[in-house]
Amino acid sequence: MLGVLTPEEKKNSVRFGPSGNSESFYAIGYKHSFEAFAWLNGLGLSAYEYSFSHGVNMKPETAETIGREASKYNIAVSCHAPYYINLATEETEKKQKNIDYLVDSARLLKMMGGKRVVFHPGSFAKTTQVKAYENIEKALAEIVAIFRQEGLGDMMLCPETLGKKRQSGSLDEIIALCDIDDMIYPTIDFGHLHARGQGAIVCEQDYADILDAMEKGLSPEKYQNFHSHFSHIEYTDAGEKQHRTFADFGFGPDFAPLAKQVKQRGLTPTFICESRGTMAEDALVMKRIYENE
Ligand SMILES: [Zn+2]
Repeated sequence: MLGVLTPEEKKNSVRFGPSGNSESFYAIGYKHSFEAFAWLNGLGLSAYEYSFSHGVNMKPETAETIGREASKYNIAVSCHAPYYINLATEETEKKQKNIDYLVDSARLLKMMGGKRVVFHPGSFAKTTQVKAYENIEKALAEIVAIFRQEGLGDMMLCPETLGKKRQSGSLDEIIALCDIDDMIYPTIDFGHLHARGQGAIVCEQDYADILDAMEKGLSPEKYQNFHSHFSHIEYTDAGEKQHRTFADFGFGPDFAPLAKQVKQRGLTPTFICESRGTMAEDALVMKRIYENE
């Protein structure tokens, strides 16, 4: 599905930034996330993902302060909705809670001046992968409608590729979910795809295959500006075990061949680095790799 991009889409550039705050940020003496933006700008980074992973608890005033700082220092803010969201659920009460978590995350992100709400689509401990996908698809269509009713129609819902075998979120599933509505954008977590596929990404062609599938299955705009998570990852037979840092020896996938592909294709994704503890430092390593490609 090739198409012509609008000038607005063309003017985007690749962005790099951390998920949350590095250990070094706190070691310097900073205490609050709103202090991160001047610091990230000083490092040369231009994206930041705020994590609501364990709950959506933020005062509106804090969100507004973050929004002011992010805009002042030209940092694109996204958020990660809680980990316990599971759109595959069949329980009505849980379903309603999922919707609330996403709406609350999006409201606060809007105050922060951001658009991309990243979330984990779900897992299928109690059902099959096919049934789980059907539930997620249905739930997501409902959520899109609710977002529009709630004045959140300008936000982006970004389901993420997941790393465990018992989770929904294969590359094909995420691409298919994007077909539901213009509001739904893919979050491609390459570490998760690597873990899910038992070390599936070993060379540039593996990245090329992923990007080809995205080009084929997504609208040109979503392919061009996809959201991405990147980190080295440890996995077992069940898939993802834990995120690693670039300093940990022996873990992949390697970023350089992806940087090469992204540059060659002229794509402008936002790369959020999820290294444990050194996410800002490693995001900067990724940026340098990209620039030197
Ligand atoms: Zn995630």
